Amino acid sequence: MNILLVEDERKIADFVCDGLGARGMMLEHVDNGHAGFERACTGDFDVIVLDIMLPGRDGLSVLSALRQKDIATPVILLTARNELGDRIKGLDLGADDYLAKPFYVEELFARIHALTRRDRQGTLQVGDIRLDRVTRQASCHGHVIDLTSREFSLLEYLMRSSGLVFTRSQILEHVWGYDFDPTTNVVDVCVKRIRAKIEAIATGDRKGISAIEAVRGSGYRFRVPP
Ligand code: CA
Repeated sequence: MNILLVEDERKIADFVCDGLGARGMMLEHVDNGHAGFERACTGDFDVIVLDIMLPGRDGLSVLSALRQKDIATPVILLTARNELGDRIKGLDLGADDYLAKPFYVEELFARIHALTRRDRQGTLQVGDIRLDRVTRQASCHGHVIDLTSREFSLLEYLMRSSGLVFTRSQILEHVWGYDFDPTTNVVDVCVKRIRAKIEAIATGDRKGISAIEAVRGSGYRFRVPP
């Protein structure tokens, strides 16, 4: 699951990143409203955790601009204890939930899960492969594909935009989330493992058909079935 955290307080940002990261979520953190809006517009995130008091542009203005652009990514607002008016305004502007500071990271984790359960896109199916994005389980015709968390994230990334080719560095940045040596072959190794796991449970005329296609000189894409 990919989370965008827009929070200017270093201490809070660190504890959220550590806490959610330890629970298998991928975090991207920006510390001001302008960058938050820019990143949120990519639509790359499952949930946006948005502080209200931010430098540059406040959270409510970011939220309202996102909803005006029809970006429907669920938003959890982080509010200070004395910002009750802002919470109500936030919900009116299209926030999905709010959390008052200080909070436990477990609480934020639970709220994020509740939101993604509500999300109708909790399940993603392309061709024979089905992803449950809440339990993070992949299956093919009811047979579970036993993927690691990283393998699941890579498959999910490709399936979310199936048919599009992603370069190795895009995949690295999105799935591994930090700067890697561009000559590393971790992406190829991970794709190879996913393919083998899918292949192991594919049957009949599906045997030998790989869902993930290598595009020479470019990268990988999830094949859209005919
Ligand atoms: Ca703040």
